[in-house]
Amino acid sequence: MRDDLENMVAAEAAPVSENILELLTKSEVVELPSQGKYYTHPGLSSGKVEIKLMTTIHEDILSNQSYIKDGSVFERLLKSLLIDKSIDTSTLLSGDVTAILYAARGSAYGPDYKAVLTCPACFNKEEVTISLSNAEHYFESESILGNANVVDKKIHAQLTLNGKDVLFVMEFMTQKLETYFAEQIAAREAASKKNIGLGPFGLVEQLSSTITSINGTTDKFTIKQFIEDLPAKKSKELRLVYKELQPKIYNVHFCKCSKCNFEISEEVGINPDFFWPKD
Ligand SMILES: [Zn+2]
Repeated sequence: MRDDLENMVAAEAAPVSENILELLTKSEVVELPSQGKYYTHPGLSSGKVEIKLMTTIHEDILSNQSYIKDGSVFERLLKSLLIDKSIDTSTLLSGDVTAILYAARGSAYGPDYKAVLTCPACFNKEEVTISLSNAEHYFESESILGNANVVDKKIHAQLTLNGKDVLFVMEFMTQKLETYFAEQIAAREAASKKNIGLGPFGLVEQLSSTITSINGTTDKFTIKQFIEDLPAKKSKELRLVYKELQPKIYNVHFCKCSKCNFEISEEVGINPDFFWPKD
């Protein structure tokens, strides 16, 4: 008996040889809305990607004001979260990025998310709790809206203009494009504060940045000119097809306005606040 006690004391006093860092290494597998179909990288083409669980280092990235201002915050977070460092985050499709961020947020703080929805009828603000676990994956490779489908990892949309068929080839929305748009918008906002007339960042730039060719023409300047003069109806058709064929996650929340009973429906977006629960 006494021997047992002595052994126990000796065992407790023994130096711990275990590497405590091994206790922390944890990851999870995220299913991508694109099902991996538009990637050649072996780490993405399976439709699943492995990410680290969020830690203090990720919270530091999210609270870095200069990353938020220059629009690089989510790209930096993604780079840090992905276990396979050979994945170029700028090639990740926008919807897949959303899936990864939802998963990271869900495992760090749980699936419930407090958001404020604005009633479009009376502008009353409703605080609601949204569950990220209700989010649905959405994937289409052919459009029901028009003559459009996906060929060779690009969107091909055919529109009729003045009785002639015109083929538009468009890139999918990637993290690179999202970052570019965020930078452009930030630059425009900064310029407008200083009264430097850079002009608004609008649909023409967004569309012409995603179009790689129109009837075989790849010249960026010609494409931009073409988009500027494209009839509004056709421009809208093109945008709808583009939106429809993007693999994405839908997380739409419905609630009744407590002031006017209007049925509010709003898509939950991602911003740095999303990662900072207010509780
Ligand atoms: Zn209302």
